Amino acid sequence: MNAAAGYEPGARDGSAGLLQSIETSLEDLRSLITCRICVRPLYEPYTIECGHTFCYSCLRQWFDRDRTKKTCPDCRSDVIRQPAPAYLVGLLYQNASTVTDLLFRYEK
Ligand SMILES: [Zn+2]
Ligand SMILES: [Zn+2]
Repeated sequence: MNAAAGYEPGARDGSAGLLQSIETSLEDLRSLITCRICVRPLYEPYTIECGHTFCYSCLRQWFDRDRTKKTCPDCRSDVIRQPAPAYLVGLLYQNASTVTDLLFRYEK
């Protein structure tokens, strides 16, 4: 009789490699959703018209410095329109964190 299905050294190595690449991708994802002002996970993320996203509180502090001319803290392009809430970014971060936690539990 054969050993239990799936018990195969090669297959195990393959899944470990897959886990590793998922982890790397998640790290990339996390760095993408880190605020460039406070260097922490985006909290109540808002996107400005150049496409950059920052925490709402960081953005307000930044804009308060110079009320005559609003610019992007990152690429310095003019900001004329109101920032829009970036719900998707917040959700992405939550999901990335959950998956990372699950991965770490799986490895132990
Ligand atoms: Zn921030
Ligand atoms: Zn920008």
